[in-house]
Amino acid sequence: MITRSKYFPVNEDKASSLSVEDEPSKEDPQPKPKKARKKHVEEKPEKREDSQSKWEPKNWQVLFENIKKMRSGADAPVDTMGCDRCHDREAPVKEQRFQTLVALMLSSQTRDEVNNAACIRLRNAGLSLDMILSTQTEELEQLIKPVSFYRNKVKYLKRTCEILKKEFDGDIPDSVEGLCSLPGVGPKMAHLVMQVAWDQVTGIAVDTHVHRISNRLKFVPKPTKEPVQTEKDLEDWMPTHLWKDYNTMLVGFGQTICTPINPKCSLCLNKNICPSSTDKDKKAR
Ligand code: SF4
Repeated sequence: MITRSKYFPVNEDKASSLSVEDEPSKEDPQPKPKKARKKHVEEKPEKREDSQSKWEPKNWQVLFENIKKMRSGADAPVDTMGCDRCHDREAPVKEQRFQTLVALMLSSQTRDEVNNAACIRLRNAGLSLDMILSTQTEELEQLIKPVSFYRNKVKYLKRTCEILKKEFDGDIPDSVEGLCSLPGVGPKMAHLVMQVAWDQVTGIAVDTHVHRISNRLKFVPKPTKEPVQTEKDLEDWMPTHLWKDYNTMLVGFGQTICTPINPKCSLCLNKNICPSSTDKDKKAR
C-alpha cells in the first residue's frame, strides 16, 4: 500500500525492525474524525525521482553498503527487542497494531531491552485498550517501570485509549495525521507505527542514533541540530526504497559500533572514508 501524508512522500516497501529513542511530548490532542482515514488511504503517491535530487552525500553508496555489511549479523538489541518485536504475533491483527502503538509510545528515551521487558509485562497482564482504561494508573506505572518518564507515558496511554475508543473504533489511526493527533505521538513515531502496524512507509524515522550518525557521515548538507531537520534533509536526497531499513540499520549500528561516545572507528569498515572517523590509520577522506 502506498500513501502520502501531509509530511512526506512515500514508497511501498514493507516493514522491518524499528526503534525509537526520543519523541517530543504533546498536549491537547485533537483527533481527526474517522472519515478522514479513508481519504488518506486513497490518496495517490507523489513519487520521488532520484534524479531530482540536487545534492547527495559524498561516497554515500559505499558508506551505506559498508554499514549494511556491518549490520548483516543482526546482533544489535534492536534486532531482537525493537518495537516491531514487542507484539504478540499470535494475537488478532487489530490487537497487534495496538500493541505496536503501545510499544512505540513507551520506547522514547528507553533502551530496547527495558522497553521490551515492559511490553512483555503488559501483555502478561492482558494488554488491551480496555485493560489500559480499566487499570489503575499506579498499577500501570508499576508494570512499565523503569521505562523512562513512565508516569507521563501512562497518562498518554490512558488518554490515547480514550481517543482510540471514541474516534477510531478501538483501532489505531492509519495515517500520520491521525497518529499525530494522539498525545505523545509525533511524526517520527507515527512513521514507525505506519511501517510496523500498517505496512506503509511514510517517511524516515529519525531518532538520536539516526540523527547522530547521519551527521557523522555527512548525510546532511549542513550539520543539523534537530532530528526533524535531519529527516527532511535525508528525505531530500535518499532514494525512497532505502527509507524502510534506514532506521533499523543505523539504530543497530549506533548500538554496536558508531556509539554516541567513543565510536569504535577502528572496527568500522568506513574508517577510511567516514568524515568523522577517529581512527588513526585512516588513509583518506
Ligand atoms: S568511522 Fe567512526 S564515526 Fe565514522 S561511521 Fe564508523 S564508527 Fe561512526
